Amino acid sequence: MQPPPRRPRPGGTGPPGRRIPRRRLAALACVSALTFTVSTSAGTGRLGPDAGTAGAGPIVLSHTPAHGPCMIRGAREVQLSEGIPTPTGYTRSTGIVRALTLMVDFSDAPGEGDAQDRFREFFPQTREWFRTSSYGRLDYRPETPIPGWLRMPKSFREYGIERGAPFEPGYRTLVQDLVEVADPDVDFRAYDLLNVLVSPNAGPSALDTVLSVTFAGNPDAPVADGTPVANASFVYSRQDDGSGSYDRTGYRVLPHENGHVFGLPDLYTAEGGGAVGHWDIMSEDWGANNDFLGWHKWKLGWLDAAQVHCAASPGTTEYTLTPLARAGGSKLVFVPLDARTGYAVELRTHAGNDEAVCRPGVLIYKVDAEVDTGMGPVTVTDSRRNSGGCTRAPNVHAELSDAPFTPGETFRDAGRGITIGVTGVEAGVAGVGAGAGVEGGYRVRVTRE
Ligand SMILES: [Zn+2]
Repeated sequence: MQPPPRRPRPGGTGPPGRRIPRRRLAALACVSALTFTVSTSAGTGRLGPDAGTAGAGPIVLSHTPAHGPCMIRGAREVQLSEGIPTPTGYTRSTGIVRALTLMVDFSDAPGEGDAQDRFREFFPQTREWFRTSSYGRLDYRPETPIPGWLRMPKSFREYGIERGAPFEPGYRTLVQDLVEVADPDVDFRAYDLLNVLVSPNAGPSALDTVLSVTFAGNPDAPVADGTPVANASFVYSRQDDGSGSYDRTGYRVLPHENGHVFGLPDLYTAEGGGAVGHWDIMSEDWGANNDFLGWHKWKLGWLDAAQVHCAASPGTTEYTLTPLARAGGSKLVFVPLDARTGYAVELRTHAGNDEAVCRPGVLIYKVDAEVDTGMGPVTVTDSRRNSGGCTRAPNVHAELSDAPFTPGETFRDAGRGITIGVTGVEAGVAGVGAGAGVEGGYRVRVTRE
């Protein structure tokens, strides 16, 4: 719960010395036995269990008994884990998800202009981002029952919101006040998650410090209309990375924060984005558009069991992976190492949300369900170490941009007796290099001794 260190701005065209620090996640609860059940008591305004569980899990994971060895879990409890399945208490990530979106301001940071302009910094882009990434399985519906600025009763300064601020007491007070002020116009039971878009002039610029934060799976949150406001994302300032692309890319702080609401951990660490680079929005949410890892898509319920292959048995197995950014076909091979870790294998191409991919190929990364958020639960294997990478896009982690393995290349973990080779390309691949469209698939051969 310590305020995280700042990290250097990744690449960038802005003035030297300016920084985008890592954003702090404060998931207060990741316990396995959350319950939103409120005792039913007619006439008191309290609600029965059905009414009190709007949007809360379980996240629907598609799997078969054959996937059992790949459903890794940590032995110890961590705040936010890559383990599968996601514990209950987070927001369901499939079907219709109603996002209560409130634009709030303060006497010492009054909203300037139309609050709907603040809303339009994030929508419809966030809705489209999720629709694309989920192959249409997440129908994200932002709603603004209060169209204007919602003035909080205390000044911004009085809430004591700063970088790394815990839920108690500042955020609790803010949520309590927000519920009280919004309650006449909002039925909180009708929504699955809460977005609080704060007036951009509250707090420091994102170039100095990123205050945006999500409290996810938090059963101790204040109760509104009988249901805890357990999954709430707060977005401050404007995440302008200085590359002149804010209008096109600045909204992605919200899908990142909402990723926590769906139970995903941060993939950057105190050292920055060097573990995963630009291969997941939970690692970097600025610069050119990027997607989720295939592991996250399975975890979120966006892949069918038939699209995920668990390579648990000794011997050699072969698969044809289709581009992760396109719907249909095999998307993920997982090679479990033990009950808590394994290698994930997927094909990344320049398509869909994967705008930053400069060379298509098979991305191989280790997932550890016992490593907590922000501590490096995922590590991408770089097929070309110290190459400098292939991207020239501003604010995209460069070194890992050419991490994927291409046909003819092989990954080996000699200690574990695991070999993963990219053995060929199916028909339909239009070419290689930046912008290459991959229509077919890549053949992958997994050998376990
Ligand atoms: Zn985060």
